Amino acid sequence: GEIPVSESVFRMSRSVRGALWSWAVPAEHDNARLVSFCKSGAHLLGLTSEDYNDVLRNPQSAAAVWSGNKRLPGSNPWAHCYGGHQFGVWADQLGDGRAISLGQVDNGDDTWEVQLKGAGRTPYSRFADGFAVRRSSIREYLVAEHMSALGVPTSRSLSLVFTDRVVEREEPELGAVVARLAQSWVRFGSFELPASRGDFKLLRELADYVIQNYYPEELDQTQSKYIRLLQCVIERTAGMVAAWQTAGFCHGVMNTDNMSILGLTIDYGPFAFLDAYDPDFICNHSDPAGRYAFNEQPRVALWNLVRLAGPLSRLVDADPTSDASAETLEAVTQALSQFSSVYSRKYAGIMCRKLGLAPDHDNGDDMANVVQPFLDLLERGHTDYTFAMRSICDVPQLLTTSGDTELLLKRHVNSLAERSDCNRLDSKWQEDMRSFFSDVYGPRLAAQGVTDQQAALSLSASMQLANPCHVLRNWVAQDIIEQADEKGNVAYVDQALELLTTYAFAGNVPEHLKEMAERYAGPVPKWGEGLQCSCSS
Ligand code: AMP
Ligand code: MG
Ligand code: MG
Repeated sequence: GEIPVSESVFRMSRSVRGALWSWAVPAEHDNARLVSFCKSGAHLLGLTSEDYNDVLRNPQSAAAVWSGNKRLPGSNPWAHCYGGHQFGVWADQLGDGRAISLGQVDNGDDTWEVQLKGAGRTPYSRFADGFAVRRSSIREYLVAEHMSALGVPTSRSLSLVFTDRVVEREEPELGAVVARLAQSWVRFGSFELPASRGDFKLLRELADYVIQNYYPEELDQTQSKYIRLLQCVIERTAGMVAAWQTAGFCHGVMNTDNMSILGLTIDYGPFAFLDAYDPDFICNHSDPAGRYAFNEQPRVALWNLVRLAGPLSRLVDADPTSDASAETLEAVTQALSQFSSVYSRKYAGIMCRKLGLAPDHDNGDDMANVVQPFLDLLERGHTDYTFAMRSICDVPQLLTTSGDTELLLKRHVNSLAERSDCNRLDSKWQEDMRSFFSDVYGPRLAAQGVTDQQAALSLSASMQLANPCHVLRNWVAQDIIEQADEKGNVAYVDQALELLTTYAFAGNVPEHLKEMAERYAGPVPKWGEGLQCSCSS
């Protein structure tokens, strides 16, 4: 009782020095059963459709393997050792406390590291149990595949297994294990930890391993390969965060131990997709100050890259124990200074595509003149982001119709108003939105030749490929969890997976998904507004 939490945690951690990983053994789970086995994940591992069907014919044997109960021949499981900055504070050693890697699978093109999450304690579990509950496992399993379908760099999913393990959280819950895939699970924090201990030999081993295996094309540059590595990670991280901001995705726990060295979205926890467009939106209940609020994500990504740059800069000069040379510091600073321009370029590229603005026209700055004013209107109205972006795909046609454009635009704005926060709405907002379409957006599209129905139709079609109908909103995830876990309708997970991947951008869905698609594309139900998750999962 007297010992502050941070100190008691420290006492219970096992310090693993001189190593980047430790052997780990998955726990035994009672009554493990396969809830979902992901076909695209299976393909990544080189399984054919035939193999995949074989797995489905033997769900018990699959559940045994992907719960960690049964070890595949040749698999010697391990847990990664890493540190990290959590909420801006150096946390020292963290490591995989509940993730266990089973092995790497080479599909001929890529190598995928298969990892079980929730498989039991490891040398890095500290005070915690090593398990995961069903709700967070369903969320992670679905969202990784969904993000991939949305075009966001991400880890992938292979399987979801339910167990009968009772897992103590705020209340007792039941357990699950997700098998997830990434080419690498190395994190920024993997570099920070050996650097913090002055173990530059280990740090160099890690950096060389990552370069050799994941960035080999960068090896024969004249610049230091460690600076090149940093530049590559900056580029990829900027691309990842640009994809988040345009998708309306909030990660929620951007600690440096959750930042992938490959620029992948990893470690899904209290993430959320925006409902109402609110730049200040905070999805993590444990982050009242909003360090990881939606709009902070690009800034935080850069802050995290600075944490990575420190360790890497140690390796550039001959003597890692003394401070980096002025020349090295200059190169590192130069690399970091690229982040914001790379980010802005990528963000603008995606937003312009979503709004159908051709990249090669000569109409001035689309971001300042078109995209930002539109987002400002969405913010003012607290308008549903996904709905607004999808429905703007129809506007080119309204603008080029031979019918009454004014009337059609009014109706369109009305439908937006229905997905807005009415308390904040006034006729001024509606008027401004309408005039945005007719006085700003319309002329801008006309300038790129969208002046007839034919051109409008083809532009709409391409915009629809950039603006999903369906995103895994918090209330949707909650609904799926209720169906699959509480109501025991586990087949619902497969259906949700299908909707959120194959049909994420589809206005029309097959019969068996119709009811689900309609409901999930509809307004956020009252109970689902402002749902927040915490880190406890
Ligand atoms: P996160 O920010 O959720 O990715 O986790 C932060 C750290 O806590 C990582 O080192 C995790 O492995 C560890 N951790 C989180 N939950 C558990 C758990 N239930 N058991 C063991 N370790 C955990
Ligand atoms: Mg983590
Ligand atoms: Mg606000």
